Parts: sequence; C-alpha cells; structure tokens
Amino acid sequence: MNKVKPIGPIPDGYESVSGELAIGGASATDLVGEHGSPLFVYSENLLSRRIEALRATMPEQLHIHYAMKANPFTPVLSHMITLVDGIDIASGGELAMALGAGATAGHISFAGPGKRDDELLQAIKAGVTINIESPNECDRALSIGAREGIKPRLAVRVNPDFDLKGSGMKMGGGAKPFGMDTDLVAPTVRKIMASDAHWRGFHIFAGSQALKADAIIETQAQTIALAARLADEIGHSPEHVNLGGGFGIPYFPGDEALDITEIGIALKQQFSDLPAILSNTQFALELGRYLVGEAGVYLTRIVDRKESQGETFLVTDGGLHHQLAASGNFGTVIRRNYPAAIANRYDQPSEETVSIVGCLCTPLDLLSDRAEMPVAQVGDVVAIFCAGAYGATASPANFLGQGAAKEVMVG
Ligand SMILES: *Cc1c(COP(=O)(O)O)cnc(C)c1O
Repeated sequence: MNKVKPIGPIPDGYESVSGELAIGGASATDLVGEHGSPLFVYSENLLSRRIEALRATMPEQLHIHYAMKANPFTPVLSHMITLVDGIDIASGGELAMALGAGATAGHISFAGPGKRDDELLQAIKAGVTINIESPNECDRALSIGAREGIKPRLAVRVNPDFDLKGSGMKMGGGAKPFGMDTDLVAPTVRKIMASDAHWRGFHIFAGSQALKADAIIETQAQTIALAARLADEIGHSPEHVNLGGGFGIPYFPGDEALDITEIGIALKQQFSDLPAILSNTQFALELGRYLVGEAGVYLTRIVDRKESQGETFLVTDGGLHHQLAASGNFGTVIRRNYPAAIANRYDQPSEETVSIVGCLCTPLDLLSDRAEMPVAQVGDVVAIFCAGAYGATASPANFLGQGAAKEVMVG
C-alpha cells in the first residue's frame, strides 16, 4: 500500500518568489486571488523564448507554423501569430478565431479530415490554403471555387507510407482517415492544376509527441524523399511542403526533452542536399504542444483534505474537466503522473504521499496519483504543469455542470 509514484519533470523556466511558484513574476496565490480558481496561466515570455530557441537551431529558411488546436486562447494565439510564419487550423471555427486574432489569410492553412462545405466556402472566400484530404474533398472544393468565381488555394495532404517512430500519436503508416494514400496524390494534383485552382504543394504529417531526435530526423528525411518522389511523378515542383511536426515535450517520469540541436543539424544537411525538384520549395514545420505546452500551468485550490484507509487525498476545485490529459484519459494507455507541485509551498521539501484529485464524482478524476508533496492544507494551490497545450479546450468543461476554467496570459 501507499507506494509512491513519481511525477513528471517540471519544465524549465519556472521560478519561486518568496517560496511560491511564480509565473511571469506573479505568485500562484496572487494569480488565483486575482483571477479565481481553477485557472490556466500562460507565460508570454516562455512562449517567446521557446520560438527563439527553435529558430536559433533550425535552418534559417525553414518556416515554423503553429497548430492552434493546441491552445487557441486569444491572447496566446495573438502572441503566437507575431512569432511564427503560419497558423495551421483544423475547422471553420479556428479559421474565424485565427483571423480574429490577427492572422493573415495567406499565412493560414486548413487541415482536417471532415471539412464541411460551409467550412470550405469560408476558407476559399478567406483565401487560406486548404490541405485536401481526399479526392471527394478536392471535387467539393473545386466546385465551390468555380461557383463562387474564386481560385482556391489547395495543397494535398498525403497519408505517408511510413510513421513517426516512438510517437505518442501515429498519424501515418497504414489505413488512416487523414490525407490520401500516395497513389491518389498525383491524379488529384493533376486535377487541381487542370482546374481553375492554385496548387500549393504537399502536407505530410506522420505523427506527434516524439521525444527521440533520431526518429524525427528519419521521418523528415522520409518526408522529403516522399515529396520529391510525388513531385517527380506529377512533373512539377511544389511551392510549399509542410513537413509535419511531431516534436514532443516531456510529461512523465523518465521522459527527456527532445534534442532539437541534432534535428537542426540534420535538417540543414538535408536542405543543403535537396533533390532538384525541391530546390525552390518552401518548407515548414507545424508544431503544437512543443511551442506552447510547457508555457502553461493549471492552478487549482484544495477544497478538502481527507484520509481513506491510510491514504491521503487532496481534493481540488478543478479536475479532468479542465485537464483531461493529466488525468490520463486523453489517449494514454498507462496512467502516469504529470509534473505537479503545491504551488504556494514550492520550496518546501516533500514530506508526505498524497493523491490529488478533482471535484468530479468519478474515480477517473485523478490529477496526481500517490505523489510525494509538501504537507498541504485546504486553501493551498496545486499546480499541474504542461498545461499550455490540449488543456482548456481539449477537456470536457461542461461535464457535471462544472464549466470552463479561467485563463490568463501573464508576462
Ligand atoms: C494536432 C496536429 C498538430 C499538432 O500536434 P502537436 O502534437 O501538438 O505538435 C500538427 N499538425 C496536424 C495535422 C495536427 O493534426
């Protein structure tokens, strides 16, 4: 009984002020005092630093796109728009949010397996690039463009015949609802080029949440080779190739940060030695969690402290309805602990083993399982890290009538 379970590594860049976790210079209790609890706090400074570090290691000509589904909170999105070269969206709703937050249509690309006609229309009217996922979708986009008298900007999303090794979420290699199989690509591109449409290039996304540089390097090489092979088959150079992303972040005990230096070196090598048909192609990476995940913290107050059969539970006013992933219910096989802390006792030593749970009436609502923490009391504030991606909007906020958490971006 009571076996201690480790927690994931707390991301770099967090400091303590007067013994408390501070984000953007403000202490956790001040933040919760001012904005309420539960609260997502995102650091503008950490977002900027992450992009700076990435730019410093990647080839200069590489574009960086932000996949906004990771965190569409308007202040975060607006800030990201100033930092990246493109915004990748996955719905008409995200299109409206991206334009509203200041993105330029020419810098937006729209992927997603089930685009409705009204979303295609909205995207074609706005002039964003649509990553076409099937021959059927291609026909629909072409006929909407023809009907409206607008030349659609269409890239073809390819279902690659390989996957990103060691990735948490595979998006290629086998039968997939994303993109089209490689044998369908050339005929679809030919149809686009024969129609009154603008063929933009390829979108090839092979997976997500990889922590091994070698795996990403291998996938990028395969992706470039696939783009060259398809371009040769078509007989035209793509102006743009989205190489996918897949850069992961450490969430769990034992996870180690991705070595982007190695990836940058390998990609520079690749770019210096491109097949002729890709020599004028603009390449982009599309990243979600890597850009924003570690820049966010979820803060939730302890409302009860109780014992059951020798175990201690800290019950918070938050839970899986805001942080589904931390509870282990967002695509993980084995539940492990996210990095967590008692935010207002950030400098105190861990002295007891506690389970931190949410306020929902379900055993799934577990934020930290038998973790070692400083002794905490009712009113204290729990911090769950890695909350900058797939938190607020990827959790069932209305479950049990709870409603959304507050969100704030700080300096
Ligand atoms: C979700 C998604 C991303 C972002 O994934 P992360 O793991 O957050 O980097 C990028 N591209 C596509 C096509 C996606 O569906």
